[in-house]
Amino acid sequence: MQETTNTCHSQIVKKDCVWLVTYTAKLPLSMISPEDLVCECGERHDIDEVRTISDTKSVLSGPDGQDAINGVFEKVMGSTVAPQLTDFQVIGLKLLVSGVEVL
Ligand SMILES: [Zn+2]
Repeated sequence: MQETTNTCHSQIVKKDCVWLVTYTAKLPLSMISPEDLVCECGERHDIDEVRTISDTKSVLSGPDGQDAINGVFEKVMGSTVAPQLTDFQVIGLKLLVSGVEVL
């Protein structure tokens, strides 16, 4: 049997695409106070709804959108400074620019 190695093709993917990844994630329950449940509209909302934040991040990645999603996931969920978010969910993926000159 022939041994397979990873040296036969480059593992390096050129990161020349800018992706916009829109996602939702949930704030920790401990960050929600009873006052937060009373919304500006005067209605009380479900705690899950109040915890859910939505944001869009741009990321420089390769041509595969999944890599861009993974990059944003790591940025958002792997952050140690921000509150620890959970339930990361991608709701939008858009290729903004491709063929970016990377210096
Ligand atoms: Zn409301």
